[in-house]
Amino acid sequence: MNLFGSGCDTPSMGIRAGVRGEQMLGVSVPQIGDEEIAEVVDAIRSGWVTSGPRVSELQHRLADYLGVPFVRCLNSCTASLSLALYVSGVGLGDEVLVPALTFASCANVVVHRGAKPVFVDTDPETGLIDLADAEAKVTPATRAIMPVHLAGHPVDLDAVEALCARHGIEVVEDAAHAIGASWRGRRIGSHGDLTAFSFHATKNITTFEGGALALWDEATAERVGRLALNGITRSSWARHGDADAAGYDVPEPGYKLAMHDVAAAVGIHQLPRLDGWIDQRRDLADLYDARLAGLPLELPPRAPAHARHAHHLYIVRVARNAPVGRDGVAAALRARNIGTSVHFRALHLHSWYREHSGLAPRDLPAAADWSARALTLPLFPAMTADDVEAVGCALEDAFS
Ligand SMILES: *Cc1c(COP(=O)(O)O)cnc(C)c1O
Repeated sequence: MNLFGSGCDTPSMGIRAGVRGEQMLGVSVPQIGDEEIAEVVDAIRSGWVTSGPRVSELQHRLADYLGVPFVRCLNSCTASLSLALYVSGVGLGDEVLVPALTFASCANVVVHRGAKPVFVDTDPETGLIDLADAEAKVTPATRAIMPVHLAGHPVDLDAVEALCARHGIEVVEDAAHAIGASWRGRRIGSHGDLTAFSFHATKNITTFEGGALALWDEATAERVGRLALNGITRSSWARHGDADAAGYDVPEPGYKLAMHDVAAAVGIHQLPRLDGWIDQRRDLADLYDARLAGLPLELPPRAPAHARHAHHLYIVRVARNAPVGRDGVAAALRARNIGTSVHFRALHLHSWYREHSGLAPRDLPAAADWSARALTLPLFPAMTADDVEAVGCALEDAFS
C-alpha cells in the first residue's frame, strides 16, 4: 500500500521532488574524516611516501581486526587476487572456478596467469556462486575456486571447504565486498588460506585505490610482499639507513603492486570506524526492506543467523511481471537524481569472455536472469532515512 497516496511527487515534500535539490544521491559515497586528512598530510610531510611504516601499521591493524596472522597490503584487490593465484601455483592450462556473476578482475587475473576461468552459475536466491554447479564443473585441470562474497553476504564456507577437500583444490576468496562480515563467529578473511580485500573508493572502507591479502602462512606472506616489489628481498624502507643499502637479492621476478604510505594513512583511520558503519548500513537496509515491501521487487536475502552480512550493497531484482523493466526503473531513478548500478552483468555476457568461453547466455541461466533484473540502490553510512524514503517514492512512481 502506498501510504503517501499519489503524493510521492508532491514538490512540497522536498525530498520527493529532486532528491536533495540538485545534488545527486550516489550509489556509494566514501566517508573521509578530518583524521584521514591530517594523517595524509603527516605522511606527506614525513618525507616517506612510498611503502613504509604506515603500510606496515595498516597491515598489523588489519591482521588484528580480521584474526589472521598476516596481511599484505597491495595497490588493489585485483593485485591481491592475482598474487593469490600466483602463490597457489595456478598457471598455464589450469582451470579456476569463478562465479559468472562478479567483477571482471576475478576472471582477468586467471587469464593473465595463462589459466582458464570456468564460469559457475548463480544461486537464484542469493546471487552467490552455485556450489553444486561448481562441483559439477570440477575436472582434473581444476586448481582453485574463487568464491565471491557478493554484496557482503558470506558464501557458505563450510560447503566451500568440503568441496575443496573432496577435490584437492585451493580456495582464493574474493572479499572485496565483505570486510567486516563473518561466518560462524570468525571474520571473513580468517577461514581460507588466501582472502583478497578491496579498499577502492566505493568499498566499505577505502584507501581510494588499494587492497589487501589476508594469509595464514608466513613464508607465503613474505613471498607476496616481495612479489609486490619487483621480487626484491628487502624493501627500500627496510634498507633505509643501512650501511649495506644495496643489500638485496631477487630470488624470483616480481611485479610492482605495493600500496604506498599516503594511501595507508587513509586506511588506518577508516578501519576503526568500519563496524559502526556496517551497523548503519544494516539499519538502512532494514529501512529499505520495510519501505520497498509490496513493490514488484525481490529484496536482498538475509544472511543465515550464524553469519554477519557486511551490507556493502543493497541489490534488488525487478520482478519478472513488473510493469517496467530494470533499465526503465534505473532511468526513472536517474531522472530523480538517484544513482543506481548493476552488480553485475555476468562475465559470460561480456564480449571477450563470451567469445572465449563459448557460452551462450542461457548456459548459465540464473546468472543471465540476475544480470537482466538486478539493480543496486544507494547505500552508504551517511545516507539518511529521508534518502531511503526518496528512493522508495521514486520506485513507487516508476512502477505506477
Ligand atoms: C571492486 C571489486 C574487485 C576489484 O577491486 P579493486 O580494488 O578495484 O581491484 C574485485 N572483486 C569484486 C567482487 C569487486 O567488487
